[in-house]
Amino acid sequence: MRKNIVAGNWKMNTTVQEGVSLAGEVMAALKSTAHNCDVVICTPFTHLVPVAGVIDQNILGLGAENCADHTSGAYTGEVSAQMVASTGANYVILGHSERRQYYGENNETLKAKTRLALDNNLTPIFCVGEVLEERENGTYNDVVKAQVEALFDLSADDFSKIVIAYEPVWAIGTGKTATADQAQDMHAHIRQVIADKYGKEIAENTSILYGGSCKPGNARELFAKPDVDGGLIGGAALKAADFMGIVEAFN
Ligand code: PEP
Repeated sequence: MRKNIVAGNWKMNTTVQEGVSLAGEVMAALKSTAHNCDVVICTPFTHLVPVAGVIDQNILGLGAENCADHTSGAYTGEVSAQMVASTGANYVILGHSERRQYYGENNETLKAKTRLALDNNLTPIFCVGEVLEERENGTYNDVVKAQVEALFDLSADDFSKIVIAYEPVWAIGTGKTATADQAQDMHAHIRQVIADKYGKEIAENTSILYGGSCKPGNARELFAKPDVDGGLIGGAALKAADFMGIVEAFN
């Protein structure tokens, strides 16, 4: 059975001190509130070690927002998958649209990052999603299929360790959410693309999260769809109460 997951993406927000405090608040809330999904926070690299110190990862998972596409060496400013793993983190977001758009990440770099993440026992949260023009010109299914296919060099065993996040770029940070039906249609499409390559069982077991202006007020409707297995949450992950409101949408 696939897992339901709510994962926060803090992006480039909070100081270390603010991040430790936010993680502590989420941790305390999870301890005192029943929840029916896995919960993860993905933080800036600088925050991973101190945040790992204040959370119990059996209750709240921890991840990075990126990792390098090389193992080690002369890549000034980069942080390797091995370094991320050595902080105690277990997840890494890969291929977020902001990385694709502002830092030129493409299928080749993402294949390398995914390989290195898996080699270091990190669970990739692999982001896909179309831009507004592709939504409007009707190519969105093909665009997302091609992004998912970047992973298709992986063995079935490796692919089964991936979490997919469908994030329509036009919905990220814009306040404009995909409708629950639009999300469901795309998630079902992604699951079919996976089934065509790896078979129905692996497709059925792959968690596919929705991301893009997901909030306490719309999470329940989105998560009620059969192929929506949770959310990747940006802005609303920066306030413990909002984030917990989304987590509680599974209750
Ligand atoms: C994101 O960046 O992954 C995201 C979904 O952002 P927001 O929730 O702010 O739209």
